[in-house]
Amino acid sequence: MGKITGFKEFERRAEPYRAPEERLLDYKEIYTEHDEKHLSTQGARCMDCGVPFCQSGEGCPVYNLIPEWNDLVYKGRWEEALNRLHKTNNFPEFTGRVCPAPCEGSCVLGINEPAVTIKNIENAIIDKGFENGWVVPVTPSVRTGKKVAVVGSGPAGLAAAAQLNQSGHDVTVYEREDRIGGLLMYGIPNMKLEKDVVNRRVQLLRDEGVKFVVNADIGGKGENAIDVDTLLADVDALCLATGATNPRDLKITNREGDGVYFAMNFLTANTRSLLDSNLEDGNYISAKDKNVIVIGGGDTGTDCIATSLRHGCKSLVNFEIMSRPPIDRAADNPWPLWPKIYREDYGHIEAQHRFGTDPRTYSISGKEFVRDANGKLLGINTVEVDNKFQEIPGTIKFWEADLILLSMGFLGPEAYVAEPLGLELDQRSNYKAQYKSFITSNPKVFAAGDCRRGQSLVVRAIDEGRLVAEEINKFLK
Ligand SMILES: Cc1cc2nc3c(=O)[nH]c(=O)nc-3n(C[C@H](O)[C@H](O)[C@H](O)COP(=O)(O)OP(=O)(O)OC[C@H]3O[C@@H](n4cnc5c(N)ncnc54)[C@H](O)[C@@H]3O)c2cc1C
Ligand code: SF4
Repeated sequence: MGKITGFKEFERRAEPYRAPEERLLDYKEIYTEHDEKHLSTQGARCMDCGVPFCQSGEGCPVYNLIPEWNDLVYKGRWEEALNRLHKTNNFPEFTGRVCPAPCEGSCVLGINEPAVTIKNIENAIIDKGFENGWVVPVTPSVRTGKKVAVVGSGPAGLAAAAQLNQSGHDVTVYEREDRIGGLLMYGIPNMKLEKDVVNRRVQLLRDEGVKFVVNADIGGKGENAIDVDTLLADVDALCLATGATNPRDLKITNREGDGVYFAMNFLTANTRSLLDSNLEDGNYISAKDKNVIVIGGGDTGTDCIATSLRHGCKSLVNFEIMSRPPIDRAADNPWPLWPKIYREDYGHIEAQHRFGTDPRTYSISGKEFVRDANGKLLGINTVEVDNKFQEIPGTIKFWEADLILLSMGFLGPEAYVAEPLGLELDQRSNYKAQYKSFITSNPKVFAAGDCRRGQSLVVRAIDEGRLVAEEINKFLK
């Protein structure tokens, strides 16, 4: 275990982010350099408790061996810590940066003291591994001659491809976008995950033998379309990891017209333009000098806030239909469950720095978009709602806006891959497949990640990618 008395001696000190006034001027990652000595002290806080909830159940979805690597980091044995970390997680450099860390919510120390800084330690282990050249391609010694196609290159598709390749199969990942990574590339912005970090891992997978095809729209209709039945006939198994890409709309009066966009159109265009031309090509939706309203919270809402601030928006408001969460756990949300409490994410802190207030307004719902006679967006009328989302009479309010971003979640994958394959969908319009079997209604087709479970987290997508690979392995044997 860490230091026997470490949890009594040392306080939790998470690694700070760069100061808002500095980071708002660029799109670089918000994180600061790791301080090895500091992190080994934080590792010393781990109690190596008899039942480490952090690494199972409500904690880490990939069952990371957290107490083991906390102890190794405390003892300065970083390379061994890396080896333990890679046993359960293919991409700790992604989770170490963007995971909300359910492990920390169920850390036993967290019952009455602040939890161990597990996520920071994970991130430092893998970053140190890359810096020291400890992360090298591992090519399988035997090839099985079986062919597997993976559709979608997000964390689920990449984890499935990594594992299947290590089992010796011939794996090709098809991606309809022009870059590999799914939402790691064109969803989560550079501030949280720089794209060199994604490309570095993709290159490793390539070196290990995984093939990647971009601009390949499986089952699509346009010029990049590849017929899904032909693809299926050419392989021994097909793994769908197409994500939950269907955005939830806000179908209220005056929805049609300029000024109202889905969050993903805003974020994707921004990252693409940033990577292509450092935003010089102008191929993105600009928030500069605009009154911006982001409807919906979560990671997507926060990323829209942070991106709008970097564009130089004039004002910024964020609507949440839910009521404001409590500061501490509610009675029906005890440890070791994920704490549903009020949090300030990086974008909220940045907005406070720029405008002096938290941009979030709770218990509020859009009633109608307001446009002038020429269809130009003027703003939105809203209404307050109670805990059951019922409108409270007499609470209609007008909010001025030139740009409104819809970040209200996703409704499963698009239908055009499932239709030709005749796949059954579940009630939430995801591909129907059981967790841990992952087989769809077509016996040669498997599904994993957000397209199967609905919109979720990077770490859950990695978990599903790893597990679907095991099932495909069994199927191919
Ligand atoms: C803006 C945003 C921010 C987020 N931030 C976080 C965060 O901070 N932390 C966190 O843990 N999670 C976050 N998430 C959630 C997380 O990104 C997803 O849960 C995760 O990426 C899902 O992985 P996936 O592999 O299932 O699908 P995706 O990452 O969605 O990848 C699916 C891929 O399939 C491709 N595809 C779809 N159809 C086809 C087709 N027919 N042919 C070829 N390719 C196709 C898509 O282009 C896409 O690249 C965020 C999500 C969003 C939208
Ligand atoms: S992947 Fe997420 S839940 Fe698992 S140890 Fe890392 S931060 Fe915690």
